[in-house]
Amino acid sequence: MTRNPTSTLPLPPDAPDASRHPFAEAVEAWYGRHGRRLPWRDTADPYHIWISEIILQQTRVAQGYDYYVRFVRRFPDVFALAAASEDEVLAAWQGLGYYSRARNLHAAARSIAAAGAFPTTYEGVRALRGVGPYTAAAICSFAYGLPHAVVDGNVYRVLARHFGLSTPIDSTAGRHEFAALAEALLDRKAPALYNQALMDFGALQCTPQNPNCTACPLNGSCVARQRGSVEALPVREKRTAVRDRYFVYLYLLRPDGSLLLRRRPAGDIWQGLYEPLLLEFSSAPSETDVMGHAAWATLGPVSSVAQVVRGRLHVLTHQRLHMDGYLVRLASDAALPGFVRVEAGARDAYAVPRLVELLFEAVDAYI
Ligand code: SF4
Repeated sequence: MTRNPTSTLPLPPDAPDASRHPFAEAVEAWYGRHGRRLPWRDTADPYHIWISEIILQQTRVAQGYDYYVRFVRRFPDVFALAAASEDEVLAAWQGLGYYSRARNLHAAARSIAAAGAFPTTYEGVRALRGVGPYTAAAICSFAYGLPHAVVDGNVYRVLARHFGLSTPIDSTAGRHEFAALAEALLDRKAPALYNQALMDFGALQCTPQNPNCTACPLNGSCVARQRGSVEALPVREKRTAVRDRYFVYLYLLRPDGSLLLRRRPAGDIWQGLYEPLLLEFSSAPSETDVMGHAAWATLGPVSSVAQVVRGRLHVLTHQRLHMDGYLVRLASDAALPGFVRVEAGARDAYAVPRLVELLFEAVDAYI
């Protein structure tokens, strides 16, 4: 790893500090040499930090970076976000996935705007919709310098390995043990520096696969390294069950060139986003299954049907989606109940899930 010569990352004090744990000292020193420069680290504005933390909850930094820049340009402060419609916020979020994050962000922005200012205490920040203990600790330490330790996946991994902890991180006992250790290690004089340093150390040095132990400043004291258990830590108790779902989309194109979309309902993935007519099956459908579906009877006369996507796999955290897509040319411009008519060329104004974007690309290539 090379040092970034333009880095203006805060450097830890040179003199040893009795209040700082040697672990914190080593991680902060590493961060001074290798930490990433990211736009949300050059600010103490809680709104910008909040947006970045919500985006990064389930998105890698490389992907989230551009979204962050675009999002804060589109909604420069919490009042602009609060004044936007849900459709505008979802459209700005399109492609990031986990859309409940955007809806929570929007609801929280409205409550902050109603209160007149961003909350300044841990309890106030934690009470915002969509903000858990990790995000509250990050916002409060980065924006206000409050002494709260962040414990995210990176932190669990580094602590489990360095201190040789095999308590499952998704157990109640594990959560308490790691939270207590994280608080004990926190550099209380520089919580922002320490938290950022530890998160970057996990993301770049003590990585899930192939951590760079040879060049690690902590390798002399790392218990997992000494015991040869690096790859086995951290331990997880549960394996999350993954469900397969089989989606067949019918892209309904009317003679006037418009298409029909509808909003996804509450209680399932992608709430509030738009999609074409969806037929869902519990196992991989045959063509006969698709053509025999009762939904066809609601469409009226059809001029032609062409399959444009076959067996496209899209993986979410707890679901594997298998998608087939058909271009269905309708013979009449009649409306369909529950659908909105979208003019040719106006499609991009509707926020859709990534899987539907892929369908659109396939339809465009076919047409
Ligand atoms: S020695 Fe390896 S496992 Fe231990 S903290 Fe360093 S990178 Fe992580």
